Amino acid sequence: MSDKQHPGAKAPTATTPRKPDGAAEAGELPSMRERRKIPRQPMPEQDPTARRSNFNEVPYGYDGQTARLEALRCIECKSPKCVDMCPVEIDIPGFLKLIMRGDFLGAAQKVRETNALPAICGRVCPQEEQCEQTCILAKRGQPVAVGRLERFVADWERGHGEISLPEKRPPTGKRVGIVGSGPAGLTVAGDLTVLGHEAMVFEALHEIGGVLVYGIPEFRLPKEIVGAEVAYLQKLGVRFENNFVVGRTATIDELFAEGHDAIFIGTGAGAPMMTGLPGENLCGVYSANEYLTRVNLMHAWEFPKYDTPMVRRKNVAVLGGGNTAMDAARASLRLSDGGNVRIVYRRSRQEMPARDEEIEHGEEEGIEFHFLTTPTKFIGDENGWIKGMECIRMELGEPDESGRRRPLPIDGSEFHMPVDIVIIAFGTNANPIIRQTTPGLKCNEWGYIETDPETCATSREGVYAGGDIVTGAATVIAAMGAGKRAARAIHEYLTGEKLTPPGGEDEVNGEEAEE
Ligand SMILES: Cc1cc2nc3c(=O)[nH]c(=O)nc-3n(C[C@H](O)[C@H](O)[C@H](O)COP(=O)(O)OP(=O)(O)OC[C@H]3O[C@@H](n4cnc5c(N)ncnc54)[C@H](O)[C@@H]3O)c2cc1C
Repeated sequence: MSDKQHPGAKAPTATTPRKPDGAAEAGELPSMRERRKIPRQPMPEQDPTARRSNFNEVPYGYDGQTARLEALRCIECKSPKCVDMCPVEIDIPGFLKLIMRGDFLGAAQKVRETNALPAICGRVCPQEEQCEQTCILAKRGQPVAVGRLERFVADWERGHGEISLPEKRPPTGKRVGIVGSGPAGLTVAGDLTVLGHEAMVFEALHEIGGVLVYGIPEFRLPKEIVGAEVAYLQKLGVRFENNFVVGRTATIDELFAEGHDAIFIGTGAGAPMMTGLPGENLCGVYSANEYLTRVNLMHAWEFPKYDTPMVRRKNVAVLGGGNTAMDAARASLRLSDGGNVRIVYRRSRQEMPARDEEIEHGEEEGIEFHFLTTPTKFIGDENGWIKGMECIRMELGEPDESGRRRPLPIDGSEFHMPVDIVIIAFGTNANPIIRQTTPGLKCNEWGYIETDPETCATSREGVYAGGDIVTGAATVIAAMGAGKRAARAIHEYLTGEKLTPPGGEDEVNGEEAEE
C-alpha cells in the first residue's frame, strides 16, 4: 500500500530511531475512538532528484513517535487475519501492542520469536499482498503499516545494540548441512540452532545472503542490514562455509558420509532465462542476474573504491516487469549519470508483477515505461556492441494460464529503439548441479525439487528442500516460511518430537479486543 509523505508531515530528525518520549506517555493509550481517527503514517523518503544519482536507502524509516501513532491504528480485532497471512507466523497484534506502549525492545523481541530476519522482511516483503491485505482496516481505508513497523523495531533494536539471543535447547549432537545461504537456508539454520542442533551452511558464493546480497540493491536493502542479521545468526551459533559449491566441492552423499544427519537444500533459482532472439550475444547485453551481481556483490556501485568492470552508458533498456527488472533499471539509472533508462514490458502496467512501491519509486526517479512493447531482434555495430533493438507493439488478448491477459503482437507495428545497454529480466530457472549429482532426488519437468508441502521432505530420506528451488522464483518471506516448516520437520526426523507452530495453539487469537 503506497502513500507518500504529505507536505505538512513531520520527517524524523535522524534515520536512527529514537527511544519513546516517556513512560507516562507510553502508559496511557488514547481511546479507541481517537485511535480510529489516526491516518496511516507516511514514510519519509529521500528526494527523487537526489536519489537518482546515489545508492543510499530510499525510505528513511519511522521515528518512535510516528511508529507509536501507526501502531495505535490497530483496532485489536478478536480474530486478527493479518497473522494468517504471515508465512513466518509473527504475532503481529502482540508486537503492535508493545509498540503502542512504547516498549520497542519488547516488540522487537516478539517479532524475533518467529522471524530471525525482521529488518530484511520489514524492507522487502510484499506486505500489501500479505498481512496488510487482510488487515480489517484495508476494507474501508488503509491498513496498519505492519511492514514499516517491523522495520522500525528491528532498526531500533540494532541501533540500541540490544539484540538479545533466544534461549537455546541443550545440544542434541545432531548435525544438519544447509545448502545455500538465502532466506530459506538462513531461516532453517537459525531455527535448528535454537532447537539444539548443529547447523552448517554451505554457500557457493563468497558472501552470505543469496539474493539479499547479490540481487537486491543497496538503495532498497543496505548490505549493512543483511550483514547484521547474518552476524546475529553467527552469534546464535550458526556456522558458515563460503566458496563451497555443493555438487562440486562435495556432493550431498559426501556430506552425509562426513557425518551430517540431515540436509536442507535452499539453492534458489538463480540461472537466468534469456530471450533466444538474434543478437543476444552482442556486447552490452546482460542478464539481470549478471548485471545486478556486478553492481551488488562485486560492488560496482562503489566505484572507484571497487574497480569492477562495468559498462556505463546513457541509453539503457531493461526487458521485463518484475522486481528484478525494477532493481536493474533503478541501479542502471544511478550508474548512467543522468541517462535515459527504459523498462520495456510486453503487457500493461496493471499486469506488472513488481511491487507497486518499486514501480512508483522508479516513476519518480525518471524511469520511462514502454508498455505493450517487446523486442524481436538486437542490432549491433561494426565492433559487436549493441546499438539498437527492433521492437513490436502488443495488445492484450484473452487471459493465459497465469490468469493475466496474453500479449499479442500487432502486425505492422514494428519500430526501432536505439539502445547501448540491454538488461534481460525475463525470470530465472533452477541451477542443475544438485539435481545432476544427487541420485534419487525427484524434480519436476522444469528442474525444481519436488517436496511434501507440509514438511519440505524430498524423495530422499533425510533430505529437505525449500524456497525458490522448490517453488520457482517467489518471495523472501515464502522462502523463510518454507525454512520454518522444514526446520520443524527436520527436528521431528532427528528427535521424534513434533513441534506445533506458534499461534497454532490459540496463543494469538485468544486475546480480547478492546472494541
Ligand atoms: C533482483 C531481485 C529482487 C527481488 N526483490 C524481492 C523483493 O523485493 N521482495 C521479495 O519478497 N522477494 C524479492 N525477490 C525474490 C527473493 O529474493 C527470492 O524469492 C528469495 O531470495 C529466495 O530465497 P532462497 O533462499 O530460496 O534462494 P536465494 O536467495 O536465491 O539463495 C540461494 C543461495 O544458494 C546458493 N547456492 C546455489 N547453488 C548452490 C550450491 N550448489 N552450493 C552451495 N550454494 C549454492 C546461491 O549462491 C545463493 O546464495 C527478488 C529477487 C531478485 C532476483
